Amino acid sequence: QLPPFGYEPRPYAGPSADEVLEKRKKFLGPSLFYYYKKPLNIVEGKMQYLFDESGRRYLDAFAGIVTVSCGHCHPEILDAITEQSKLLQHATTIYLHHAIGDFAEALATKMPGNLKVVYFVNSGTEANELAMLMARLYSGNLGMIALRNAYHGGSSSTIGLTALNTWKYSIPQGEIHHVVNPDPYHGIFGSDATRYAKDLQDHIDFGTSGKVAGFIAETIQGVGGAVELAPGYLKQVYDIVRKAGGVCIADEVQTGFGRTGSHYWGFETQGVIPDIVTMAKGIGNGLPLGAVVTTPEIANVMSQKIQFNTFGGNPVCSAGGHAVLRVLDKEKRQAHSAVVGSHLLERFRALQERHDIIGDVRGRGLMVGVELVTDRKEKTPAKAETAVLFEKLRELGVLVGKGGLHGNVFRIKPPMCFTKDDADFLVDALDYAMTKL
Ligand code: PMP
Repeated sequence: QLPPFGYEPRPYAGPSADEVLEKRKKFLGPSLFYYYKKPLNIVEGKMQYLFDESGRRYLDAFAGIVTVSCGHCHPEILDAITEQSKLLQHATTIYLHHAIGDFAEALATKMPGNLKVVYFVNSGTEANELAMLMARLYSGNLGMIALRNAYHGGSSSTIGLTALNTWKYSIPQGEIHHVVNPDPYHGIFGSDATRYAKDLQDHIDFGTSGKVAGFIAETIQGVGGAVELAPGYLKQVYDIVRKAGGVCIADEVQTGFGRTGSHYWGFETQGVIPDIVTMAKGIGNGLPLGAVVTTPEIANVMSQKIQFNTFGGNPVCSAGGHAVLRVLDKEKRQAHSAVVGSHLLERFRALQERHDIIGDVRGRGLMVGVELVTDRKEKTPAKAETAVLFEKLRELGVLVGKGGLHGNVFRIKPPMCFTKDDADFLVDALDYAMTKL
């Protein structure tokens, strides 16, 4: 039996959910999609909670798509943004302003090796665009290698790197090769990193001139359904790519800033140091902010021309992003993610023993995936059941993400202030919903 989730009636004079929806349909184009049958109208956020117009409280286990790293409207971040907004909201990089340098310095201290040059942009897509440009300029080659099941953005170039057919359009996408995904649950080679690496080597040998621009991967695929790459894969692949003249790019848009619990960056879980790291989402706790960090040698290729971005490194976003780094350290969120994440995995694994519909439980820290299947042996996606459970969870006051090629993976990636009690509430809610189903 679950405790009733919170109603906290609050004054709200804004438009109703139906009015908001009507306006969006009319003015925001036909391709917007909504998570729930009756879309959720969010009017307020407070740390790990969201509130709808009736004052109904939801436990947010998806963090606005893995973006709200510290918690909705975190007071310290709010203060930093407010203070900066009152002084100066905008300055481009053609002038001097201290916030951008202070933030870049703080970010550079978080990077290993020679990754010391920072470029600020406005989103993950833009970060990966810039990373791809750098790789191509630095190597003098065009060919990019990415993984199947990857998500790296939705612009005309980065959509080429993305390899999930729900996001693809039929447009030419340049020289991009998608190699077999080192996915321990579904992958044809299980957890054998060497065989996956051999597939990548074959792509270079048979599908290119032998030279490539670069390789990009998430260490735990986010949109693809919390798929952690087979252990040891990146080490082997980075060697192969560098021998072929390419640079290695780590997409840390979801995995960065301690979310994995064991490490500050996802790539560290594989014992590698990339040549370029891209980040966004959690870096701004909801502000539009992204960054690319690279080595001075690679950054040098950008000095051939003017590198300029009107909003990149905007003072308000820089002050907010800098505050995010401080808060994550001060509140020891990486260690916290490790503890709560292990608890969550343990509880989901116990649930898996009682509910046949759970095919796989995976992840690290506060980046967890629960894959639902109708047949464990065949791993048949439980599409319809996932949709029913998803709605039921919302009814019970819990918001989770959905992912994977068939949308049958629950993605649990809450703000990093999520507690063990929150984890218990979430698992109990899912247990209850599955039992009912
Ligand atoms: N890379 C990864 C790993 C992502 O998950 C996303 C967004 N889902 C992006 C890049 C693109 O980021 P944005 O939506 O900020 O453009």
